Amino acid sequence: MLNKGGNRDTTRLLMDRSVPGRVGVVTPGLDVPAAPLPDAAYLRDDLPLPEVSEPEVVQYFTSLSQLNFSIDTHFYPLGSCTMKYNPKINDEVAFLPGFAGIHPQQPAEQSQGALELLYRLQDFLTEVTGMAATSLATLAGAHGELGGVLMMRAYHLARGDSGRTKMGIPDSAHGTNPASAAMAGFDVVTIPSDADGNTDLVALREIATDDLAGVMITLPSTLGLFDTNILEVCQIVHECGGLVYGDGANMNALLGRAKLGELGFDVCHLNLHKTFSTPHGGGGPGAGPVCCVENLAPYLAAPVVAVNDAGEYSLAEPDQSIGKISGFHGNFGVLVRAYTYIRTLGAAGLLSISGNAVLNANYIMESLKDIYELPYDRTCMHEVVFSADRQRERGVSGLEVAKRLLDYGFHAPTMYFPLIVHEALMIEPTESETMETLDAFIDALRLIDSEATAEPELVQHAPHTTPVSRLDEATAARRPVLRWEAAAD
Ligand SMILES: *Cc1c(COP(=O)(O)O)cnc(C)c1O
Repeated sequence: MLNKGGNRDTTRLLMDRSVPGRVGVVTPGLDVPAAPLPDAAYLRDDLPLPEVSEPEVVQYFTSLSQLNFSIDTHFYPLGSCTMKYNPKINDEVAFLPGFAGIHPQQPAEQSQGALELLYRLQDFLTEVTGMAATSLATLAGAHGELGGVLMMRAYHLARGDSGRTKMGIPDSAHGTNPASAAMAGFDVVTIPSDADGNTDLVALREIATDDLAGVMITLPSTLGLFDTNILEVCQIVHECGGLVYGDGANMNALLGRAKLGELGFDVCHLNLHKTFSTPHGGGGPGAGPVCCVENLAPYLAAPVVAVNDAGEYSLAEPDQSIGKISGFHGNFGVLVRAYTYIRTLGAAGLLSISGNAVLNANYIMESLKDIYELPYDRTCMHEVVFSADRQRERGVSGLEVAKRLLDYGFHAPTMYFPLIVHEALMIEPTESETMETLDAFIDALRLIDSEATAEPELVQHAPHTTPVSRLDEATAARRPVLRWEAAAD
């Protein structure tokens, strides 16, 4: 059977290629007495198993593994996700038997090396964020947010300050922020962005009263912008007795240049599976450590790793900890990868990450802003948010532009987010791509814009070269088809 491109379709389901009597593996003859089979009632003659050769099995699974776009095969500028290259050395270190084979219940005296690694990682992340303490227990960005806002709640309650029910969140924040705040029992109050894309200080002052528990600020914001009001934001919130949460998922933009703790944030999380290069997508695994100032350290999620004067490492529960919110010590393999990544790069390497990530995004911004609408025309951070409004006027939506990029061999950018930008296309090139790749990507977007004028149908029905084209992503995620079923004939 040939596929759309006229090639032999190696992804055709194994069941559909089955030929009676074809054999892939021959098992050796019995050299022990045959055991009796179970009752005939438990045996099936009609079990549909594919009869295929070994090479067919290998071709089938290898082809399937190559159908997706991946960071190792394509440029993947998915905004807000930091889909950058994950150095293979990180995996190799995580696979070392002493790390990969360790049992989470192993006593501390038998796992000193692993605990030391966690302890050092806590220190590195504390340093990177300019905070005082870190817990590695939380397993994702959103999970870190939940841990962080539960700490804010515990802090206020421990001081007998029980009237702080509100959490202020800018409309440019990541969508997980309001969800985490609501989950921790807060009423979410949305703070609008001002005309430049910063937090609107007038609106913030209005809600900065004694019922404000705090605010959650994504920095850089999901507009890819550094909020130049940030010092005032922290000051206003602190003056009314509130705390400032920093969503540091996009630390790729700030590494080595700005520390949330020094800007006035009280607690934040990092996404190790973005900034610190663990592969992600498909739901994990990840790690979202929480870092905080001295005042909040007693509330960190357990366990944290401590060391005594004799240099012995142990797991500890901070005095007034919000408790355990994950199993064991967090996602250990991800933590080993982050540690390896940081040690491989050193301070100078971390600094060059943010430098190149921001340079690459600004290069794309400057190279395309004559053609794609740029709603906030100012220096961007690690990502740039365009609007496809001008293409929309010619009947081509942001989604269609993004899908057409697949035909040119690029993963689509993030679409329709942030919500405050119409027809948003959010592009995050990361630091790991070459200028040649960025130029090819820019060329493709310019070409798609001319196609929108000359041949809009071409863009409207893209992609044309992928094995499947428009998927219903929500249904695919909620009701995945995981079993083969015979086609009705
Ligand atoms: C990715 C992201 C999150 C959520 O992280 P998860 O690990 O997917 O839960 C939160 N905030 C921002 C700004 C992000 O980019």
